[in-house]
Amino acid sequence: MEKVKNLVVGCGLSGATIARQIAEICKEEVTIIDKRSSIAGNCYDYIDENNICIHKYGTHIFHTNLEEVWKFLSRFTKWHPYFHQVVAQIDGKEVPIPFNFNSIEMIFPYEMAKKFEKKLINRYGFNIKVPILELKKEGDKDLEFLAQYVYEKVFLNYTLKQWGLSPEELDPTVTGRVPIYISKDNRYFQDKYQGIPMEGYTRLVEKILDHPYIHIHLSQDYHKIKNDIEFDKLFFTGCIDEFYDFEFGELPYRSLNFDFRTYPYPYFQRNATVNYPNNFDFTRIGEYKYFLNNTSDHTVVSYEYPEPYIRGENDPYYPIIKKENQLLYQRYLNKAAQDPRHIYFLGRLGDYKYYDMDKAINRALLLFKEVKEKW
Ligand code: UDP
Repeated sequence: MEKVKNLVVGCGLSGATIARQIAEICKEEVTIIDKRSSIAGNCYDYIDENNICIHKYGTHIFHTNLEEVWKFLSRFTKWHPYFHQVVAQIDGKEVPIPFNFNSIEMIFPYEMAKKFEKKLINRYGFNIKVPILELKKEGDKDLEFLAQYVYEKVFLNYTLKQWGLSPEELDPTVTGRVPIYISKDNRYFQDKYQGIPMEGYTRLVEKILDHPYIHIHLSQDYHKIKNDIEFDKLFFTGCIDEFYDFEFGELPYRSLNFDFRTYPYPYFQRNATVNYPNNFDFTRIGEYKYFLNNTSDHTVVSYEYPEPYIRGENDPYYPIIKKENQLLYQRYLNKAAQDPRHIYFLGRLGDYKYYDMDKAINRALLLFKEVKEKW
């Protein structure tokens, strides 16, 4: 039986962050394991034979308003400034997403577009983000028409593909991530800090983990070795339902399947991401050379196909945020609270939260502070 002081399960951003804090601030040894043979979790990236940095588990774009998170990461990486823009193919046109005044002007005749814009400003004000499900409830006839159009053309089918559920069946925060934006700003995010780690995410995580007290063991599945290892504290970033042997049933997750294609010409599309809400089975196409501005006479894209998560067959990517799932998660959390061992759950899977990368890191930093109080 091996005994370790601190065991971290999962080498993604959450696991790496908490491991670093424990090693550096508490000056204690940390063992971090991952069932994959790579670090960096779903942020894992690599340079391919065409000199293009590929995000193996789909496009990752870093953005944050959290000073502490930006400061923490900036210790380990320089940043390539990158401001993400997305367009969606709607009725043969590529319109900016979040749907904004530029999108309105591309779709509707001039007079009509101006009428919508005026009404939106009068109703909500400038630079405001309005979730589609809110806009749909508008009493005004014109705004209702606009809302219905955007709902049908941008949200309904994309959401059905992405989640297997309609927007109304999900927590409103899910579609609220991509609101209607009363602005002419075509950026996908408005955060103060935006960029891509200059040497990629894998290198960033490698540097976070580069500490003499941190010991990394890859290709180690916690569930296979749990009877052979003892710990004082466990920080678990995997699925909480699996941790407790699905005692209350399985928590649902959504998975993704990526079809990567390399083409023998410099660019495939004009944006890093093009969404396809209504046509095709995939939701979007990501083109990787845009992120770090890689130069190559080839280009690599991925077609993104959402699918149900099936244990043992694919990977859980997203928790499915809706009431009954939150309640089930809460049952597991209550169980964890009664667990006499020192076990802490974190990360998208451990917390069953739809974290962006910065929020996952923030959670790890906050959890560390909380646990350190009792150290
Ligand atoms: N969404 C949509 N149409 C779009 C973009 C987003 O319906 O063109 C909805 C969809 O439900 C999606 C959610 O908004 O799952 C959040 O989108 P986001 O781009 O944040 O998803 P992620 O990049 O995390 O997969």
